[in-house]
Amino acid sequence: MDGGGETVASATKQKVVVVGGGIAGSLLARSIQDYADVTLIDPKEYFEIPWASLRSKVDPSFADKALFNHSEYLTNGRVIISSANSVTETKVLTTDGHEVPYNYLVVATGHAPFNPRCRRDRMEQFQEENIKIKNSGSILIIGGGPTGVELAGEIAVDYPEKKVTLVHNGPRLLQFISPGASKKALDWLKSKKVEVLLEQSIGLGSISEADKTFMTSAGETVIADSYFVCLDKHVASSWLQESVLKERINRMGRVMVDENLRVAGHRNVFAIGDITDIQEIKQGYLAQKHAKVVAKNLKILMNGTKNKTLVKYKPSIQVAMISLGRNSALAQVPFLTMAGSLPGMIKSKHLFVDRTRRKMGLEC
Ligand SMILES: Cc1cc2nc3c(=O)[nH]c(=O)nc-3n(C[C@H](O)[C@H](O)[C@H](O)COP(=O)(O)OP(=O)(O)OC[C@H]3O[C@@H](n4cnc5c(N)ncnc54)[C@H](O)[C@@H]3O)c2cc1C
Repeated sequence: MDGGGETVASATKQKVVVVGGGIAGSLLARSIQDYADVTLIDPKEYFEIPWASLRSKVDPSFADKALFNHSEYLTNGRVIISSANSVTETKVLTTDGHEVPYNYLVVATGHAPFNPRCRRDRMEQFQEENIKIKNSGSILIIGGGPTGVELAGEIAVDYPEKKVTLVHNGPRLLQFISPGASKKALDWLKSKKVEVLLEQSIGLGSISEADKTFMTSAGETVIADSYFVCLDKHVASSWLQESVLKERINRMGRVMVDENLRVAGHRNVFAIGDITDIQEIKQGYLAQKHAKVVAKNLKILMNGTKNKTLVKYKPSIQVAMISLGRNSALAQVPFLTMAGSLPGMIKSKHLFVDRTRRKMGLEC
């Protein structure tokens, strides 16, 4: 992703502030660090490969390579470990009082963070969750989106003797992909003896860690030694609601961008990743394509090249892959869905960890 021009002497570097250290923001920050004075703002000190986190619950050693500190790949930039809580025309404000000036701003806040601030605490969390799984004969998973389905798959494959129940409030699992693909996921889970209860929910306000009996909204009782809440995270745009960008948030909480991924009406503000209103499925590989386009556009703008048009983002073929344990996966490509070991060979064994590390310039 690097390339496309010589690096710029530090005295002449323009200030680029990237808010959000997920795959979109982290990759963008890394790819422009030699061309700009880059600051990355994220509430965690580390980057986490999101699609590896379910494996890390059944196999905590997997997290060793899937979590790495921002400072490891952002060797020529600054990291502020805090949450942004507003933005003006010239600076980003954070919850712990930083006021970070920018010439260019990139919004990449994806989804609201619930993870610990320190990498060590996150690693410990995986250890604790692993112990919880090991010590449970029966496990309830609440939520049938990608997180719930992938966790059910990991537990069903690594601990086939455990009774897993998945409760989902929608009419089908994985509602972001086609009904046919959802059905394949359901059939695969059933083949692994996972009990799936659809169109039912569990009241989160009324349950505690000590509970072993859970009542669903349809009146069914689920007996489980432990439970995991795997509901979709909220889009993280609340910090923009009272800011200069507030008019650019749509009803779904997403940031409206133009074909250059610029926030409409703001010549020096871009948005990338899941936070954007681009009509496509929200996937990390697409977030990386956004980062690539914005890196090019920032270089064009910072070079001040006259009459050079900005690069356009073109939504491309949309692919979704859901891992189903260590060897199988579900793949949806245009006009085709497939479940089994073939897509499993692509995603499920290594979960793209080495590929992601390489993109971040790290050893595998
Ligand atoms: C179970 C699962 C499996 C998946 N598998 C795949 C897959 O195989 N392939 C694929 O391409 N995609 C996959 N995805 C989708 C992929 O994870 C997302 O599309 C991708 O992570 C989006 O990246 P992002 O950087 O836009 O947002 P996020 O990953 O949500 O990152 C947002 C970042 O912003 C930070 N942030 C939030 N609010 C603030 C704030 N106020 N101030 C500062 N920072 C803030 C957060 O801490 C976080 O670091 C999967 C998703 C799930 C849940």
